[in-house]
Amino acid sequence: MSPSTTRRKQSTRPAKRPSSHRPSKAAKSTRVLVWLDDPMAGGEPIPRRASDPAAYSLRVDIKGARPKARQYARGTSGFRYWAASDALARGAKFWSKHLPGEQWFTGKSLPVALDRGVDLNAYYDRRGLSFFHERVGASTVYSGESPDILLHEMGHAVLDIIRPQLWDALSVEAAAFHESFGDICAILVGLQSSELRQAVLAEVGSKLYRSSRLSRVAEELGWAIRQFEPSGAAPDALRNAVNSFFYRVPESLPPSAPDSHLSSEPHSFSRVFTAGAFEAMSNMVALLGKPTDAILAQVSDDFAHLLVEAIRDAPIAPDYFAQVAEQLIAADQDVFSGRYGSAIESAFIRRGVLSIHGVSPSASQRRAQVRGRSRRLGVSRARSIFGLTKLPMLTIPGATFGLGETNLHVHVASEAPRILKATSAAAVTAAQPDAEMAARWFTERLLCRGRVDLGGVHATHVAHPMHPHKTHSLDPDNGAVLLRRRTFDCGFD
Ligand SMILES: [Zn+2]
Repeated sequence: MSPSTTRRKQSTRPAKRPSSHRPSKAAKSTRVLVWLDDPMAGGEPIPRRASDPAAYSLRVDIKGARPKARQYARGTSGFRYWAASDALARGAKFWSKHLPGEQWFTGKSLPVALDRGVDLNAYYDRRGLSFFHERVGASTVYSGESPDILLHEMGHAVLDIIRPQLWDALSVEAAAFHESFGDICAILVGLQSSELRQAVLAEVGSKLYRSSRLSRVAEELGWAIRQFEPSGAAPDALRNAVNSFFYRVPESLPPSAPDSHLSSEPHSFSRVFTAGAFEAMSNMVALLGKPTDAILAQVSDDFAHLLVEAIRDAPIAPDYFAQVAEQLIAADQDVFSGRYGSAIESAFIRRGVLSIHGVSPSASQRRAQVRGRSRRLGVSRARSIFGLTKLPMLTIPGATFGLGETNLHVHVASEAPRILKATSAAAVTAAQPDAEMAARWFTERLLCRGRVDLGGVHATHVAHPMHPHKTHSLDPDNGAVLLRRRTFDCGFD
């Protein structure tokens, strides 16, 4: 959605005089009440020492006044502030460790607005993270109170550091990977809390790959969306990383579907990769032994390390899920000498993201070649060789989409793929389109779903006035219009 359309009603909470951003020594030692993952995950708020998300190299600044650190009652703005502060601090600490020396796309600090008014939504828009509130039945749901949602949105900002080219890439799998990374971020950062690790171990016993409060992401927002549209979210959460979805070429899927079915809508399609990643982590845990607190902590760190490496090295192509999955395996060869290779490979093969024929034994050799090429070109290890360039641009006649004489410029997901036909043969009910076809197709789906702010462009049939949540806009660009992303928004439309 566009930020302007979401500011229908600003919070009427009286503004307090902002205090200096660092908590006082007294505040640092004071305990506040926080959620570990989500208000409806099943636990009670727990006391923790007040934390400061601005204290890390990837600094996060919550806008507005900071209430005095103490144990507020649930339902108060003081409680929500400290619940959010704790979750954001855990995320900032985790990603500062995995992305040393890096900066947010927004610069030295990631601004966060915990309540921008009435909506059932949350988004990242390259200016910061925004959260909202909405009355649902007898209660009010605040998206900025749930650690799962806070960390999902932070995930969009983190991925924008690692691979900014994904922002404008017009392909389902690039957009869906952003959503998947958000959910994986909520899960990985959740696992940094020993209290949550203990709670999950008590719930799942000897096998991590079970539906649990860890695999269920954003239970409360899922509940709220189901009140408005019963088939709009999973029965027990917004999305569940333990699911049975199997890869399909997204262009063969409908643009929307009930939660029980896969569609090409990015949040829906993201569940394929998330399930593969969660199963891969579960396999990694099993490889190390019976799940324990220490093993969960180690696997979450190891998987985050591999994921950052893989995303840097995976070319952005229409079959992006497979590209990332193969680079996870190649990164494991490089970093852990292949320790987790079979754990990762089998999980993504079970999802149809990779084929049993698709993963080449020379993946690690190709990775070594790319590393050598990067070094020769003076590209630091911190940046992918692909990070040097912007994605190529394609011009599409606007008449194709009922936009009259205006030509559209779009960014195409066409970095040279390193693997061919990596997805399962069983998954290919339709041919994988090339990058140009994928971009045309994704553009059409965005317009059909009413996700594009048309600005001044004359449209004959695609205005969608009843759907104000716009993720993209058409901006003037050398006599044509550029289709560019405004936000990754994650709520109810
Ligand atoms: Zn999202």
